[in-house]
Amino acid sequence: VAMLNDAVKKGGAFASQSVGGLSGAFIPVCEDQALANAVRDDSLGLEIAAVERTRSPLSLLVLDVDHFKQINDSFGHDAGDKVLRSIAQVLGGCVRIIDIVARVGGEEFAVILPHTDAQGAHEVAQRMRVAVAQASWLGQPTTISIGAASLRAAETACGLYARADAALYAAKKSGRNRVVAA
Ligand code: GH3
Ligand code: MG
Ligand code: MG
Repeated sequence: VAMLNDAVKKGGAFASQSVGGLSGAFIPVCEDQALANAVRDDSLGLEIAAVERTRSPLSLLVLDVDHFKQINDSFGHDAGDKVLRSIAQVLGGCVRIIDIVARVGGEEFAVILPHTDAQGAHEVAQRMRVAVAQASWLGQPTTISIGAASLRAAETACGLYARADAALYAAKKSGRNRVVAA
């Protein structure tokens, strides 16, 4: 178990550090191909198994940078990469040591929050949203949209991920730079 936890933590750290170039950590292979592509290991499945043994809550955030294409178009891809690294650092500074921040796609991140209920997840998500919005890179504000979902009884990693992703979509639809709970 210690080895597994170690691997999970390293996966999260690796994902944050390698952002803007290499691969992220993450979650299980899902039937939905889009999710399967976004997700590369079983961190979420392992964390769910761990909290289920103690009946402790777990929440998941899925984040996407708003209008990131404009940043690339205006400042170039390399500048975009730097902004992504900076965002990853800010996100990492918003969580506890046992939380896992991972890059799951180009400018998308997921955050696993073990032992965290819906209210706690909303607090973390708002902290992340505000921290990113207040930072200034390339002399202009950058914002993120966040979908939050908390694990239901007997829910799978894919089910949880899909709900958080749908909430992220709702956050985008309703204006961006906001948190929507599933
Ligand atoms: P939205 O608010 O709807 O998310 O708008 P968006 O422009 O962020 O969304 P869209 O999916 O249209 O574009 C995402 C952009 O992110 C396009 C892609 O070129 C860029 N991107 C993805 N991965 C990387 C990366 O590793 N580095 C850089 N610099 N850009 C990336
Ligand atoms: Mg985006
Ligand atoms: Mg995106």
